[in-house]
Amino acid sequence: MTLVPEYYFKTFDEATADFLSSLGVKGIILDIDNTLEPYEHPVPGEHVVAWLRSLKEAGISAAFVSNNNRERVELFNKDLRLPAYFKAGKPFSKNIKRAMADMGTTKENTILMGDQVFTDVLAAHMAGLRAILLPPINDKRDVITKVKRYFERPVLRKYERRNNK
Ligand SMILES: [Mg+2]
Repeated sequence: MTLVPEYYFKTFDEATADFLSSLGVKGIILDIDNTLEPYEHPVPGEHVVAWLRSLKEAGISAAFVSNNNRERVELFNKDLRLPAYFKAGKPFSKNIKRAMADMGTTKENTILMGDQVFTDVLAAHMAGLRAILLPPINDKRDVITKVKRYFERPVLRKYERRNNK
């Protein structure tokens, strides 16, 4: 089981509808916190809404699978009304499978996007999906996060090596 993501982008919208379509992607499973918006933003910004609309127009479904609580996820999803799972238990696959069932997609044509190697990338790979990793939008520099970033570094180096060959 590799922790190295298939793709590493700087921001979520670098994964354009054209790019995702070129991979055969029909559905994208999205982390929320520090992937689309920082923790402090309770609702999606205009750029998130516009990006999601561009995916929809390209026939790509989206779903939220977040380890955050019900209040966070329901408020964020209030206007979007996407399939959404809170306290999802990533990296475990249960709610990723549910989200794929909601979207009518399979592990072959679904991709997962998130900012954390040990929850998001691992969750994608445990479920047999490809992963897009982003650097966290607002990195809270608390001790736990620092420790996590330290252990993520070799994974990112591996990604760089593989892609600079
Ligand atoms: Mg996150």
